[in-house]
Amino acid sequence: MSKQGAKCSFCHKPKDQALVLISGVDAYICESCVEQAQSIIEEEIMPFQKDTVSAAVNALDSTEISMLKPVEIKRKLDEYVIGQDDSKKVLAVAVYNHYKRILQKNNQDDDEVEIEKSNVVMVGRTGTGKTLLARTIAKLLNVPFTIVDATVFTEAGYVGEDVESMLTRLLQACDYDVAAAERGICYIDEIDKVARKNDNPSITRDVSGEGVQQALLKMLEGTDILVPPQGGRKHPEQKLVKVNTKNILFICGGAFSGVEKQIAKRINTQVIGFRGNDLDNIDMDNLLQYISHQDLKSFGLIPELLGRLPVLTYLNPLDRNTLLRILTEPKNALTKQYERLFEMEDIKLTFAEEVLQLIVDKSLEYSLGARGLRSICEAIMTDAMFELPSQSDVKAFEISLDYATAKLNKTKLAVLKQAV
Ligand code: ADP
Repeated sequence: MSKQGAKCSFCHKPKDQALVLISGVDAYICESCVEQAQSIIEEEIMPFQKDTVSAAVNALDSTEISMLKPVEIKRKLDEYVIGQDDSKKVLAVAVYNHYKRILQKNNQDDDEVEIEKSNVVMVGRTGTGKTLLARTIAKLLNVPFTIVDATVFTEAGYVGEDVESMLTRLLQACDYDVAAAERGICYIDEIDKVARKNDNPSITRDVSGEGVQQALLKMLEGTDILVPPQGGRKHPEQKLVKVNTKNILFICGGAFSGVEKQIAKRINTQVIGFRGNDLDNIDMDNLLQYISHQDLKSFGLIPELLGRLPVLTYLNPLDRNTLLRILTEPKNALTKQYERLFEMEDIKLTFAEEVLQLIVDKSLEYSLGARGLRSICEAIMTDAMFELPSQSDVKAFEISLDYATAKLNKTKLAVLKQAV
């Protein structure tokens, strides 16, 4: 269309009377029609947006989040996670304060004290229940949850995943409900693997170490991040979704193997020069309980990142007694699961007490930890699960010590180790 004699296609104002006339494929629009259109859009769409925001806030008010007190959170965790009382307490308080902070934010006066974010870092050997704790908390609070592995991240622009991809996963976990994702929980596993490799950054570029820590800083603190909804790297034509991470709780976990040395060193230097006999009260078998931010810094986490992970807690190694309890006590304990499976076949399954001891002993012997319990159980139970459903006359079945030993002897250790 030529601009000669052009007029606004909406109000028919001629070009010389309009301040601006924007041309489309075969139409024009003047500045006052644009303004009018804008106000119609606001009227039509904004109330809807406000509704969704307040619906999210209301949802937050009405979910259990605001009702579960730390003691109740811990009690619920006790149903699924055995032991680890210290970390349960610390987590319960951190999570409670986190959601209290979100509620305060929603009805905040400007002069009110601003509560800071309480992202958490958990230190404990692999298989001691770090992921289980984070997953259980998210489940009982009914918020979106995702687990990401810090080892896959690299600094933007390098082969590997950008740290933003964890938000893509969080979005996917709640069907792209941005408001829900913005108050979810992200568990970042193996955070120790992004520790700075050495003290001299000039030798090589540390794209999967310190570079990733730097990339995590902003996200952990809280900012608007544009996320590719389908994952992958960002590229110019891609549609991006804006996610604000201010109210997302980040829980990091790592084994930090070898950090005990730093702790011992620090404790030793502290004790010398003070009261020498304090050393006697230190439990050298479980030094992790004395972990401090300073030790994580010596391990290679940068101080800026540690500053954004103010809550630090540790998990105890699993001893024989704890493993035995893990086998039988949690709500979805392994023995309970097998009993349920057989119950569905109308068979009453029982485990002899010595069998439970045997399973724990084998797991300790092969250093398989809690994850090993499952593979040892499978080795014992597979034949029974294969045969019994076809034997309609069997109404009860006891796993005796002889039976379990015979089945385990048939299994190769290598197979068990592989399964963990
Ligand atoms: P981590 O994240 O510390 O490496 P996980 O939380 O993934 O370990 O634990 C692995 C599995 O071991 C869990 O799925 C759970 O079945 C079992 N487990 C570990 N620790 C505990 C515990 N304290 N209480 C109950 N189960 C546990």
